[in-house]
Amino acid sequence: MLKSEYLQRVYAQIVARDPDQKEFHQAVYEVLESLDLIVDKHPEYEENGIIESFVEPDRAITFRVPWIDDNGKVQVNRGYRVQYNSSIGPYKGGLRFHPSVNLSILKFLGFEQILKNSLTGLPIGGGKGGSDFDPKGKSNAEVMRFCQSFMTELSHHVGQFQDVPAGDIGVGAREIGYMFGQYRRITNRYEAGVLTGKGLAYGGSLARPQATGYGLCYFTQEMLKCMKNDSFEGKKVVVSGSGNVAVYAAEKAMSLGATVIAMCDSNGYIHDPNGINLDVVKDIKQVKRGRIKEYADLVPGSTYTGDCRGIWTIPCDIALPCATQNELDGESAAILIKNGVMAVGEGANMPSTPEAVKAFQDAGVLFAPAKAANAGGVATSALEMSQNSMRYSWTFEEVDAKLHQSMVNIFHNAYDASVECECPGNLVVGANVAGFLKVASAMLAQGVI
Ligand code: NDP
Repeated sequence: MLKSEYLQRVYAQIVARDPDQKEFHQAVYEVLESLDLIVDKHPEYEENGIIESFVEPDRAITFRVPWIDDNGKVQVNRGYRVQYNSSIGPYKGGLRFHPSVNLSILKFLGFEQILKNSLTGLPIGGGKGGSDFDPKGKSNAEVMRFCQSFMTELSHHVGQFQDVPAGDIGVGAREIGYMFGQYRRITNRYEAGVLTGKGLAYGGSLARPQATGYGLCYFTQEMLKCMKNDSFEGKKVVVSGSGNVAVYAAEKAMSLGATVIAMCDSNGYIHDPNGINLDVVKDIKQVKRGRIKEYADLVPGSTYTGDCRGIWTIPCDIALPCATQNELDGESAAILIKNGVMAVGEGANMPSTPEAVKAFQDAGVLFAPAKAANAGGVATSALEMSQNSMRYSWTFEEVDAKLHQSMVNIFHNAYDASVECECPGNLVVGANVAGFLKVASAMLAQGVI
């Protein structure tokens, strides 16, 4: 229950305005709970309507995306771009192509993105977009025609100084390439900084594909070191998902001395007590765009279970949820705790339900919240933008070193803020407060706009 009457009013207003946007309410409520600890010290927020403005996007654009399938039939999807807050830099945030995409999910993601981007210390605002298009099972030609149609409309709203999308679920290098090509054709401009996550041949950054997963492990490593004098060395790790974030989180956890024993996709999970062979996972998911269950046919000693939530019943020391929102609920958290989990690092956005987060915190499990722990992706996207502006490329090692330092800084910013809020080690509070203070001061300085 929020203590501040001001915050209670703000929350009641967003629920009344959009009663069916559950994911958005969940994300806002978690942030307001943290701001409840500081809002009394800042009467200027209420005087200037800062938090009312902060929870309302600058604009949310929806549009029709018609495209022609391989049978010559016209299909129509819905596209979105939520431009949330640009007070510290151009809107920045990924595009998600998944049948579940709706305005509630994109508002929650865009809202979280404002704080995440602020935490990186880089000049980037928050936004998010996508479509209910499902790339699964579509031919390359269908995906290309969809991306071209999507960008035909999106091109009116994006630009290197305006709004810079990237990938997310269902949007990888292939989709970014098709969208970049269409943007270049429509505008007749080579504006590399309009999208990030590009291929290396046309302005992408080395280490961008790895950045979110590697960054998650760098953050978790710093948290283990500073809060428990421990490390990944010798730990058993469960990573949910097998997409971009999951694969590179698993790769970095292994290189830091851990054994990754389970991964999943949206159909089920694989358990390999000897340690997952990541080359096999990459071949199945990245090259063949297949299903994770094929792993069990290829690797002796491993098993497949057709229920992805069951992945959290496998005993482990460190859990890295890297698939999607609300994939880890209170029941799963209780099982992980009973099995002795010591740390949870969120690679996906809001993968743990509020009940799960509370259970971890009450049990003294180290908890790295997504908006801090997975900020490495967007931090490296900002490095891609810098390289595009300079017309220069850094080496993999240079980008990786900057990423590592960013994640260490983000951990300490969040940790220090948690101490200032008198809840040392509560990184949920720390990340929310540290991210918000910077955005709020920029909003105050720029007046009522
Ligand atoms: P991908 O599309 O590459 O991978 C998503 C993975 O999650 C796939 O393995 C997918 O399985 C699985 N998945 C999707 N839905 C479910 C579900 N309901 N239950 C279990 N598994 C599921 O996406 P990313 O790796 O890019 O993104 C994963 C998460 O990380 C998202 O929350 C995203 O917002 C977040 N994130 C991503 C960043 C990035 O740089 N890419 C940056 C910061 C956050 P299947 O193959 O069956 O679809």
